[in-house]
Amino acid sequence: MSDCIFCKIIAGEIPSSKVYEDDDVLAFLDITQVTKGHTLLIPKKHYRNILEMDATSASTLFARLPKIAQQLKEKLGANGLNIVNNNEEIAGQTIFHTHIHLLPRFDETDGLNIEFTAHEPDFTALAQLANELYIGE
Ligand code: 5GP
Ligand code: ZN
Repeated sequence: MSDCIFCKIIAGEIPSSKVYEDDDVLAFLDITQVTKGHTLLIPKKHYRNILEMDATSASTLFARLPKIAQQLKEKLGANGLNIVNNNEEIAGQTIFHTHIHLLPRFDETDGLNIEFTAHEPDFTALAQLANELYIGE
């Protein structure tokens, strides 16, 4: 897509700090570096986000995660790593070309704070909801 900043990075029209590249994907350092080594993994083909992808294109993209995650952790001496993917504005997506954030984690003060709000479990409601959502094979 001509007006997509990540397509321009893939085409080499905008510089990037590459961490990994093959025929299908590119991984490069996020300019904001929320934590040290913050990396974005993107497919070379333009998709708006995961909601637009099929199983094959998603498999190709996600299959690259373990190797890059392991390298980041090892080379940076990180203690862990968060993998985050934002889909649509409400979920924090600002660049509309599928990307997966890899965020090496060092300690509680390393710049990232992901909090899940816990609710008391309502097992009847859970069963009903799962019934509504059940996809099958
Ligand atoms: P989102 O909020 O859509 O999940 O994440 C988009 C990410 O792209 C942000 O973390 C932002 O820092 C990063 N980003 C935006 N423009 C550029 C750019 O030109 N180069 C790089 N390397 N990262 C970018
Ligand atoms: Zn694009």
